[in-house]
Amino acid sequence: MTDGTRAPETADYMADTRPIAVGEAGPGCKKRDPIVVARHVTRRFGGINAVDVDYLEIPRHKITALIGPNGAGKTTFFNLLTGFDQPNSGEWTFDGHSLAGVSAYKVARMGMIRTFQLTKVMGKLTVMENMRLGAANQPGERLSKALFKNLWGGREQEITAQAEVLLQKFKLDAKRDDYAASLSGGQRKLLEMARSLMAQPKLVMLDEPMAGVNPALTQSLLDHVKNLKAEGMTVLFVEHDMQVVRHIADWVVVMAEGRIVAEGPPAVVMKDPAVIDAYLGAHHDVDLGDMQGLQALEEELAHDRKSVVGTEDEGIIGQHVAEYDGREDGGRRERG
Ligand code: ATP
Repeated sequence: MTDGTRAPETADYMADTRPIAVGEAGPGCKKRDPIVVARHVTRRFGGINAVDVDYLEIPRHKITALIGPNGAGKTTFFNLLTGFDQPNSGEWTFDGHSLAGVSAYKVARMGMIRTFQLTKVMGKLTVMENMRLGAANQPGERLSKALFKNLWGGREQEITAQAEVLLQKFKLDAKRDDYAASLSGGQRKLLEMARSLMAQPKLVMLDEPMAGVNPALTQSLLDHVKNLKAEGMTVLFVEHDMQVVRHIADWVVVMAEGRIVAEGPPAVVMKDPAVIDAYLGAHHDVDLGDMQGLQALEEELAHDRKSVVGTEDEGIIGQHVAEYDGREDGGRRERG
């Protein structure tokens, strides 16, 4: 090893503390072992450059948070990477395979699975039927067969067994025969995550997994995300809640106005002036060229420190975002 640290002897992904970046962290920095590499990916909507990513590598076997103010381009970038939208330019690889122009269905079959901000579980199907549909993303299988067990014999039993294990793990086994429409918002998020695992993905991409989830289920969801990594998967997730990001992310990528403006470990990134700029510039009536104004804002936030959820070392951005989240979502994201 050149960095003086060692790889874990077994595949213990939680114990691997080697540096993620090769050299200094920063926008577009190289990673020791990237699973996704994106180059010059752009997407315009009318006059807006929704995504303008010059270069980005996503580290394998790590949990990466993609953060940024509303409208930064996070969801659009997710859509592009996973084949749900087409870029104006650019190329990207997943596990060494080029994905530009590859359909969402094939991307999923290759092991890159995503969930959505608003869950896409099928309300008129039962929990178990939703799980079976997840397995249909595996090579050589047809969606239509997923629901007709008589046509499928042994393979169907295998899939049902796999689904039972996952449903138990996600504490949804008691709901297996309930319609997905009857589940709470948090349970639907759990179901969507469990269903994504039916395809045995290498990379799981979660778009705001905690949004709309009540505090009782938040910890459970966080544990499930950490488990994905423990089991050898790579996770990329979009999240607004900085507490969540600090808690589970190994690496943070910050987008603003379509571009990557910062990258690094959570504690470092949240104190990065470029990140503070990205958030405050978008959401606060402060002239960032005016140092006095910025200082006044810092003081105001420091004063509020005890009244917002946040820790001393979280820095100005964590405080601000905690406040901002609370205002913007009307209390949707409660904190425990
Ligand atoms: P949020 O955190 O609010 O979900 P985001 O970072 O995911 O935001 P996007 O939803 O990707 O941001 O949006 C990026 C920009 O692209 C925004 O200006 C948005 O209005 C615009 N945009 C996204 N999708 C479309 C579309 N289908 N048509 C036109 N403009 C769009």
